[in-house]
Amino acid sequence: MDDLLNSYSVGPDENGRFGKFGGRFVSETLMPLILELEAQYKQAQKDDTFWVEMSDLLKNYVGRPSPLYYAERLTKFLAGAKIYMKRDELNHTGAHKINNVLGQIILARRMGKFRIIAETGAGQHGVATATVCAKFGLKCVVYMGSHDVERQAPNVFRMRLLGAEVIPVKSGRGTLKDAMNDALRDWVTNVRDTFYCIGTVAGPHPYPAMVRDFQSVIGREVKEQINKAEGRYPDTLIAAIGGGSNAMGLFFPFLDDPSVSVIGVEAGGKGVNEAMEHCASLSGGRPGVLHGNRTYLLQDKDGQILEGHSISAGLDYPGIGPEHAWLHDTGRAKYVSITDKQALSAFQLCCQQEGIIPALEPAHALAYVVEIAPKLPKDHLICMNMCGRGDKDIFTVAHALGMDISTAG
Ligand SMILES: *Cc1c(COP(=O)(O)O)cnc(C)c1O
Repeated sequence: MDDLLNSYSVGPDENGRFGKFGGRFVSETLMPLILELEAQYKQAQKDDTFWVEMSDLLKNYVGRPSPLYYAERLTKFLAGAKIYMKRDELNHTGAHKINNVLGQIILARRMGKFRIIAETGAGQHGVATATVCAKFGLKCVVYMGSHDVERQAPNVFRMRLLGAEVIPVKSGRGTLKDAMNDALRDWVTNVRDTFYCIGTVAGPHPYPAMVRDFQSVIGREVKEQINKAEGRYPDTLIAAIGGGSNAMGLFFPFLDDPSVSVIGVEAGGKGVNEAMEHCASLSGGRPGVLHGNRTYLLQDKDGQILEGHSISAGLDYPGIGPEHAWLHDTGRAKYVSITDKQALSAFQLCCQQEGIIPALEPAHALAYVVEIAPKLPKDHLICMNMCGRGDKDIFTVAHALGMDISTAG
């Protein structure tokens, strides 16, 4: 086990494998692009000028470091463990996604690629990508399932305001999986000038590791901040999982310290046992291949990818990053699920106790904090990732609470 623990900060192997997960399952035509990206990323990693530009923009454009906040009233209310929130919801664009987008787009510019493509489900990654493209004056094309375009009108409008072209994808069910396929097709067709910006720790190698590295700024800051506040590391880290990027970002810098326990919270929707109306790929899915890597997926008995359901649109990725699949299998991290109902009540509790309107995604993480904190001693330190703000979710929440706040009637 010691050997395994030592390797958490090293992986994946040269083929992009995290144990039996990850890899690069892509067509022959894509392979040269992926290899070029890998080589260029390796070079950038060793280049100080890359990190100087990154640090400057994280500070002055994104607003980092985000605070590590002691949630005093919530801690007293739950009367157990001491609860800290990593406030990534205060970032520019309201979530952690921009940490990663910034890294990939700085890399794209170094590579001389000035046309950026992305796919988006709920629209958050599309908005972050459109934002950074506007900042650098790059062309931005976002693929989005036609069904999602209808459901996520405000984010579609934001992307268009920011100058992005949003292409509705009508194939399949018109959701995220279909948008991913079209984005990959675009990339193969426009090899020369195009960079594919992936929004979570998924896709073919090197994306899962690269996205994780860019998001790890979260965990690195937490290390420093909690050391200052408490003189030691947290006992437990908790984060919500869609594809798993905010969670990997928080977890990764701590993985080699076995005293820190690590918990990922999947979207349990209406319950993990009921007719797949959930998005819990680890708790309720099986291994398979999607989006260029091998991981746990929501699928039916014939291997068809299922859509899943969550009150939080940002958690409905049908898979989970391969590194999480590996951490799950090795037992280094634990994965649990939280239902829509539990997330909704944690959402309200957070508004009332802390004056923070959380996104529905981190409300899942918070709901698990609510479940375990009362059972833990007062000197147990929990750090949860408040990875997004809830402004985008107020209509969904109002609807779930049976209220109508739409001015359109
Ligand atoms: C996109 C998103 C998620 C899910 O993505 P991960 O890659 O799992 O982090 C979670 N929270 C917020 C606020 C998001 O925007």
